[in-house]
Amino acid sequence: MTELTGTGVGRGVAIGPVRRMPEPLAEPSAEPRTTPAEEARTAAKESLAAVQGWLTARGAAAGGDAQEVLDAQAMMAADPALLADITKRIDSGATAERAVFEAFESFRVLLQSMGGYLGERAADLHDVAQRVIAHLRRVPAPGVPESDEPFILVAHDLAPADTALLDLDIVLALVTRDGGPTSHTAILARAKSIPAVVGVSGADALRDGDLVIADAAAGLVTLDPDSRAVAAAADRRALWRRAATAPVTDGRLADGTPVPLLANLGSPHEAADAVALGAEGVGLFRTELLFLSSDSAPTVEQQRAQYAALLRAFPGRKVVVRALDAGADKPLAFLTAAQEENPALGLRGLRALRAQEEILRDQLRALALAQAETQAELQVMAPMVSDAVEAEYFVDLARELGIRVAGVMAEVPSLALVADQVAQVTDFVSIGTNDLTQYTMAADRMLGSVASYQDPWHPAVLRLIERLGAAGAATGKPVGVCGEAAADPDLAIVLVGLGATSLSMTPAALADVRAALLTVTLEEARERATRALTARSAAEARSLAAGTA
Ligand code: PEP
Ligand code: MG
Repeated sequence: MTELTGTGVGRGVAIGPVRRMPEPLAEPSAEPRTTPAEEARTAAKESLAAVQGWLTARGAAAGGDAQEVLDAQAMMAADPALLADITKRIDSGATAERAVFEAFESFRVLLQSMGGYLGERAADLHDVAQRVIAHLRRVPAPGVPESDEPFILVAHDLAPADTALLDLDIVLALVTRDGGPTSHTAILARAKSIPAVVGVSGADALRDGDLVIADAAAGLVTLDPDSRAVAAAADRRALWRRAATAPVTDGRLADGTPVPLLANLGSPHEAADAVALGAEGVGLFRTELLFLSSDSAPTVEQQRAQYAALLRAFPGRKVVVRALDAGADKPLAFLTAAQEENPALGLRGLRALRAQEEILRDQLRALALAQAETQAELQVMAPMVSDAVEAEYFVDLARELGIRVAGVMAEVPSLALVADQVAQVTDFVSIGTNDLTQYTMAADRMLGSVASYQDPWHPAVLRLIERLGAAGAATGKPVGVCGEAAADPDLAIVLVGLGATSLSMTPAALADVRAALLTVTLEEARERATRALTARSAAEARSLAAGTA
């Protein structure tokens, strides 16, 4: 078994044999032209027009996002600057094929040097050139292999024309050596809900017929998997397929226990998508993301408008807004202390707000105004709170300024250790597993070299969550989870077993978590949690929870 890593797109899983995209056409010879220039010019023009027409027709047949992408490629084939360059090269003695190849190549290099979004469009130019050259040679254009048997398509990179009309019963997943999360392969894979793993540097080693698992959720391609890995992947695939096609319902367990599924948002613009994906409200609105580029503190009015726009999208629903969480990975010029040796351990979150209380007061005032003009059920919470005294400070201040429901995030282990005291003074607690894991494991969440420690499955983290859940149950206070852990379908079950009463996540993860919760009763979730708590490592907790250890 060999594991190749890349960037996963979506959460799908597929198992099947590899089929590679055919190699590109041989490079046209640089030998001088022997035919008249006029003939070569006409041939080039005709082939460009034919490819343009074909791309447009294929786009119209595909519709949606694919059409946009194919229309953009058709425009490349019709670009007058490219035609002028091709003509110039033919007039200087090149064959039509060579002139097309060189002209497109020089544009491609130019685009690539620009990097970013434009750089990722470079693959599209190459694809158009290949099609024009194939047309000039009167040979079929390179494309997705024909097959009656389902397969996993492996390529250096895929062009829109390849992916637009993919037969989704035959092509199970896409694996590419090149490309990033914004490449066309990724965009179209997302639009078509086909599992994809892009930027897999070891993809060149894959051969036709190799059995692989492409796991987009894990960003992994497993070559020659053993039967256990195949069985586990088949289970994940079944779950993913069910989730993708299941009706959007409110979150609940198999026995009917409700587990509200909420969205993590950073801007009111993201609200509509979250609602479409079935978010029952907002579990974490990261207000600091609105003001990352501001030099001065936002005014009450600026904030009121943003918060009201958010609340309006969720009439009658719970919306949990977090007070500005400045510092460490999210510095705010107007709130973050200038120079600190260890910013993650410094004056951040509630500590920074307390040091400049007027900023916190303004934010709470703006939130109270927004609440008064909308129908949503606003709740406000503070980040980076250390104990019950800090929690009480925040809750009292929020109430003084007109906030009806106020709580705190559990991100610092000290707060979890005194969870019983905290539950006495707040209306709710929301567990931020990203920071809770970082601080419990003493591993900077931004640092690749210690990334393996940043695993919320670690039993030390789970035991803190258990404590928070128990304190919530004892006092009747809700305990939500809003860190990335809630987006992991298997861990979501364990979190509910540990006492989480709601789960909040990036909206794209809602469907998978919704489907996973429906597979267990509360009693089963608790059994899984109890098993995971006895583990000695994150990996062991995973297998104990799954019952595979
Ligand atoms: C967390 O720490 O888990 C959390 C949700 O907050 P953020 O990721 O914004 O720090
Ligand atoms: Mg946090």
